[in-house]
Amino acid sequence: MHSHFSAIVIDDVPGPDRAALKQLDNSELPHANVTVRVSYSTLNYKDALAITGRAPIARSFPMIPGIDLVGVVEQSESPMYKPGDAVLLNGWGVGERHWGGLAQRVRVDADWLVPLPTTFSPREAMAIGTAGYTAMLCVTALERHGVTPEAGEIVVTGAAGGVGSFAVAILARLGYQVAGVTGRLDEAQYITGLGASLVLDRAEFAAPGRPLQKERWAGAVDVVGSNTLANICAATKYRGVVTACGLAGGMDLPASVAPFILRGVTLVGIDSVMCPREERIAAWKRLSTDLDLSKLPDIAEEIGLSEVIATAPRLLDGKVRGRVVVDVNS
Ligand code: NDP
Repeated sequence: MHSHFSAIVIDDVPGPDRAALKQLDNSELPHANVTVRVSYSTLNYKDALAITGRAPIARSFPMIPGIDLVGVVEQSESPMYKPGDAVLLNGWGVGERHWGGLAQRVRVDADWLVPLPTTFSPREAMAIGTAGYTAMLCVTALERHGVTPEAGEIVVTGAAGGVGSFAVAILARLGYQVAGVTGRLDEAQYITGLGASLVLDRAEFAAPGRPLQKERWAGAVDVVGSNTLANICAATKYRGVVTACGLAGGMDLPASVAPFILRGVTLVGIDSVMCPREERIAAWKRLSTDLDLSKLPDIAEEIGLSEVIATAPRLLDGKVRGRVVVDVNS
């Protein structure tokens, strides 16, 4: 085991000195019971916010970002894992409160790790990452609340982004009719290629709207929040279900209770970070069966650890399509 490893390190300073690629010593790793040699991580919306400092994601400093990682166990003081086991991790505050996956090595709690499903290569697991796993949590929430493919159209916002791309692909594969909402109409072909039958301009959703609108959606996966989420709730059919998982358009929710009390609409909150272990394992199992892996090369691009800092603002500015997989060893 090398005594040094490379990592993206964030310090609590504004400007270009905030994030840097550094060499760290193993002795600096935090206390926890499993050490993992990381092969791939990803760049999520949250990681990009942490790196740029545009939102207070990192809770202590210095912090290594990276809410996703896949790798091989190097050392374990837990009976749950032994050296050589392939594992993945999403969330649990890793990359926020605990040093994360944008590094060649991590030390984490055994409880946070999930065995890498044998259906996926390490790179495929990270192409899916928190985005794919969160999209699957949204889909299973729609199912749990009784939304079937026969119920009608499902609207997915941020359809050219990470969570949105996976939500479109999974729902289409399950037989749902999907409308993808995007600000990048030049990506319409990409979104229909994932399985959407219709692509809509996000401008139609962005302005404040009436509290009740024509009933259209049987269900929704929303990554945007704010007026977009309010308008979707207002146009959801009687007893329809809206899953809310993101805030790419804002934290606010300028909505009325009308859709909930007059149409029995359900608004389901989705959190991937603290989601219980059994549900994660179930979501990853569903991904093994309900995601068409041939879509992954379209959805994910790969970069090296040294390109992460420059890519973060591009991702927040909506200039990155789909997912960014990070090979931490290049
Ligand atoms: P991406 O950056 O990959 O995708 C976000 C997409 O949202 C963009 O590609 C864009 O899609 C759309 N978008 C961006 N800005 C705006 C805006 N101002 N108005 C409307 N649409 C906008 O991020 P992710 O897919 O990784 O994450 C999406 C959201 O979900 C984020 O808010 C993230 O924090 C959240 N999230 C939450 C999780 C949870 O556990 N609840 C887990 C994972 C993510 P397009 O170009 O198609 O318009």
